[in-house]
Amino acid sequence: MRKEYIDRQKREFGRKVVISLPIHYPKEILTALDVLCVELWGPPGEISGNQAGRIQTYVCPVVRKALAFIAGGHASEADALLFPHTCDSIQGLASLLPDFGGWNGPVLRFIHPKGERRASSEVYLVREIEAFIAQVETLTGKKLEPARLSSAVKLHAEIDALKLRILKLRRNIDMRDSELYAILRRGEWLWPEDHMAELKELASKISDKPQKKGVALMLSGIVPEPMDIFDVLENAGAFIVADDYAAIGRRISSSSAELPDNPLQAVIERYFALPPCSTRSSDLAGRVEYLTGLYSQNGAAGLVLHNVKFCEPEMFDVAMIKKRFAAMNSPVLYVETELEKQLSGQLSTRLEAFVEMASKGGESE
Ligand code: SF4
Repeated sequence: MRKEYIDRQKREFGRKVVISLPIHYPKEILTALDVLCVELWGPPGEISGNQAGRIQTYVCPVVRKALAFIAGGHASEADALLFPHTCDSIQGLASLLPDFGGWNGPVLRFIHPKGERRASSEVYLVREIEAFIAQVETLTGKKLEPARLSSAVKLHAEIDALKLRILKLRRNIDMRDSELYAILRRGEWLWPEDHMAELKELASKISDKPQKKGVALMLSGIVPEPMDIFDVLENAGAFIVADDYAAIGRRISSSSAELPDNPLQAVIERYFALPPCSTRSSDLAGRVEYLTGLYSQNGAAGLVLHNVKFCEPEMFDVAMIKKRFAAMNSPVLYVETELEKQLSGQLSTRLEAFVEMASKGGESE
């Protein structure tokens, strides 16, 4: 399905295709220059080929599986690869890939500023985005028109506003969390207008009364894989009421309302209005404040910290988050997964036990 869709985007619309590693990059620029972005989160499931074994086993599975995928020649439909400098592991992959083969095409890079907004990071980001525009212009052979960038910014701001509304009112949607996340995650590879159409359809299902019953949980982590985590939690009597996945909630910019007329400045504003994220080295105290706010505003009764195994940026924040939630007497469960096809029986049992404990207002594991 995904391959057919990509082929059609190239054939019918003449779009270039960029395969991007996670997480943050200025998608508005790609849209404005008619580039379909397809994100590579692993991919999940069995590793095809033996290339993953060429990186140490203590490197996260997102990177090891991406290496196996690309070095196995499976990225051939792409016109370029994009490496945002998310973490040391992705930067390492970008350096090693030429030696391991499987990709000889163009490579784009985006190095986002780390830490909080300040005068120097604003100047840096403007230059970095200008450099990114130049890379994409070279790839496409097109010049970025300000009017096209304005339309792309508007479109992505509308998508974010709709996603925010859906996540805020998700209790009122009569749909399993696994189905809801499947729709949200299609934004990782659909053309933004197609994604918008699906989100509008999803938003039309918001009713005026809550449709969910059970133990309300907040989930935080990098990416919701394996996706059956939602079914395990739901079957145990829980539902998700707040999201802090880097793949989902942390990429929704809240600056949708009043954006500057200058489209490049609007891209900058949208970037700095993203929620805190470990991979952008957001201030930890600020991130903890943000998480406790998200938790209490949405009436969550427990927090599941769902990390990708060996994800260092995310791991650095865990101790402080656990400490703060423990001080609030809020139940917290920390779990790690490896982009496997499905959750292990042992992990499912831990999640079920946590739901039961959270239903009684129990303590953290
Ligand atoms: S899971 Fe963590 S370590 Fe792995 S690529 Fe993503 S941010 Fe980097």
